[in-house]
Amino acid sequence: MTDKDINNVNDVTRWRLCLGCGACESVCPEKAVTLIDIPIRGIRPIADLTKCQKCSTCLQVCPAIGMCSQERSSDDIAELSKAWGPVLEVWEGYACDPEVRFKGSSGGAVTALSIYMLQSGTASSVLHIGTKEPAPLQSVPMISKTRLELIAQTGSRYAPAPTCAGFDLIDEQNAPVVFVGKPCDVVALKKARSMDEQLNSRIACSISIFCAGTPATVGTYKILSEMRVNPERVSKLRYRGNGWPGMTTVQEKDSPRRQHMTYKEAWGRILSKFGQFRCRFCPDSTGQFADISCGDPWCRQTNPNDPGRSLILVRTELGKKNLHAAIAAGHIEAKRVDPSTLWRSQKALLRRKRHLWGRLTAMRIMHVPFPEYSGFDLFANWLDLSFIEKIRSFTGTIRRIIARKWHKPLASESIEQTIPAQTATRIDFQNAEEETV
Ligand SMILES: Cc1cc2nc3c(=O)[nH]c(=O)nc-3n(C[C@H](O)[C@H](O)[C@H](O)COP(=O)(O)OP(=O)(O)OC[C@H]3O[C@@H](n4cnc5c(N)ncnc54)[C@H](O)[C@@H]3O)c2cc1C
Ligand code: SF4
Ligand code: SF4
Repeated sequence: MTDKDINNVNDVTRWRLCLGCGACESVCPEKAVTLIDIPIRGIRPIADLTKCQKCSTCLQVCPAIGMCSQERSSDDIAELSKAWGPVLEVWEGYACDPEVRFKGSSGGAVTALSIYMLQSGTASSVLHIGTKEPAPLQSVPMISKTRLELIAQTGSRYAPAPTCAGFDLIDEQNAPVVFVGKPCDVVALKKARSMDEQLNSRIACSISIFCAGTPATVGTYKILSEMRVNPERVSKLRYRGNGWPGMTTVQEKDSPRRQHMTYKEAWGRILSKFGQFRCRFCPDSTGQFADISCGDPWCRQTNPNDPGRSLILVRTELGKKNLHAAIAAGHIEAKRVDPSTLWRSQKALLRRKRHLWGRLTAMRIMHVPFPEYSGFDLFANWLDLSFIEKIRSFTGTIRRIIARKWHKPLASESIEQTIPAQTATRIDFQNAEEETV
């Protein structure tokens, strides 16, 4: 990627690189950036270039255009560092509070850790994503200060979620804050902390969830369309949780009726087909820049009667201190597990990491702007693919670039294209699927 291609966040969007973290909106000193949800793409910034002073603060925090991995440490688990970044300890566990465990996406570890940090005085609040009345489909950054507020926002939101648009909410707090977000949100946080000492000093701990990719809003519309529910009639939507992995559950306004869809159907058949373009090129799906990261121990057989389990990675000494203290204080029940549990649980994420060098090389050859990464061992990971897969990583991307015209930037009218909720069930989903992944 060259400076010629990317001069402002509008260019990040035009080249399909934006991943919708919202950081640029929050840090712009001129308040020139607005976020909009483009249903077939995700949350995207629009910078008003008449207000922009070309300070490039937005690009300096942007995780989409590049990132640099940490130095290796002798404390890292050697067999994990090439594919997963620094990992000091691997645990499997769950929240001891049965309500948190049941409502949590996996085993409620993220919420249990957050509650521990509030109740122990380590932090006074948590910045994370959630929904507010009367917009159950819209994910917004919010500050939670109590167990009940945190429990209300448990569960993964498989939809655009601009956590970093809440950086200014951290500034408003006069005490330490826990940050919860996706891996790319945590990268934006890390970049913003390096530029803003006040923000840096306010972060008590950063927690990342694992992430296979954010589905655009059209994925949610497709679920609702199959359930024959008008998006405007939704009063409550949970993508999962309430058991492991839990069901997608939709409640309609003024109706006792609840509709359900299994996780396999909702994520496997629908949502995963509407992932953002940039997520194909993500080098860090397990939150290697966070203090602690949490995902699912998918190597286990799932069972709808299972109240839930989390796979917990300790990434830093601060993460280790907080997790050990949360276990000792009775907030989390967990045991150390063999590091191979991570490989066995996250095969799709490992596959994507291994394909990345081939995909980026194809982008480079086809002169498509691509993110700049350093220190992620991408070539070494690519070498671990079979011969056929190596070829596929490269030719598959070339084929897509040509078929989907990725070598051309998006026209501004397609960036601003929105779909009113009342017509959302009549979307051409096949076309939308091709527009996304
Ligand atoms: C888009 C997406 C893709 C995922 N892909 C994988 C995967 O491939 N493998 C895997 O093991 N796990 C994946 N997860 C993570 C997994 O679904 C759980 O979120 C994770 O295991 C934490 O579970 P928990 O019970 O500890 O969290 P909970 O206690 O339920 O807490 C969840 C926390 O995450 C926050 N949150 C929810 N959705 C988002 C979001 N979209 N962006 C930012 N923050 C959010 C909530 O605000 C809440 O604080 C994914 C999650 C998302 C949102
Ligand atoms: S990735 Fe985040 S910071 Fe970069 S342009 Fe998109 S919303 Fe803005
Ligand atoms: S796959 Fe990577 S880039 Fe995409 S939302 Fe998840 S962490 Fe961000």
